[in-house]
Amino acid sequence: MQLTSYVLLGPPCSGKGTQAHNFKEAFGEKLEMVSTGDLLRIKAGDGSEIGNEIASVLRSGKLVSDDLVVSALRNYLEVFDIRRRYEPMYPVDKVVFDGFPRNYSQIAIFESLMEEFGFDQICIVYFKVDDEILMKRLSSRISETISKGMKLREDDNLEIFHKRLEEYKEKTDPMISYFYSQGNVITIDANRSADHVKADLLSKI
Ligand code: AMP
Repeated sequence: MQLTSYVLLGPPCSGKGTQAHNFKEAFGEKLEMVSTGDLLRIKAGDGSEIGNEIASVLRSGKLVSDDLVVSALRNYLEVFDIRRRYEPMYPVDKVVFDGFPRNYSQIAIFESLMEEFGFDQICIVYFKVDDEILMKRLSSRISETISKGMKLREDDNLEIFHKRLEEYKEKTDPMISYFYSQGNVITIDANRSADHVKADLLSKI
């Protein structure tokens, strides 16, 4: 069975998380999603020394060290691999990676993980959004969360957002030229509404 990975690439508040759920709609039980941000937030809350170290990097808006992210991702992939091998009728043949790779050094790590865990195809889904739109989305995400009485993500504030955007522009966005050279990029204009983006995405994947 062919195994495909989708890598979501885009700035914070570009709607990657929301769109990740639309992959689920398209592929149902054949697809699984993994977000390195989620894996790190779980680790950050476990009270361990490493957890506390991760929590302080998340609060700074900077990228967590490759070692820590890769170890969290490898744990996920090992469980995934065991399930694929030993669970009869395990249906998953597509995995969406939200948030990895995120810098040049992680590209090589990602490619070797893909080889090690038997992925045949890598598809990059690149969400392009203007800064003003990102700022508007962040403000509405904050006010919506507050009005629902829900807890904000610790890095959902203006100051940290700017840091995350800076990190994205410096380290993550430049990776796209490498992926374009590989010829496996789907580019999505994510300035539009979530529904438009969804329709575009579903027509291209
Ligand atoms: P996200 O939920 O994808 O916005 O990620 C939240 C935070 O987790 C980022 O601001 C980084 O600090 C950290 N993070 C997530 N993925 C990575 C990664 N691949 N490499 C380094 N740090 C990451």
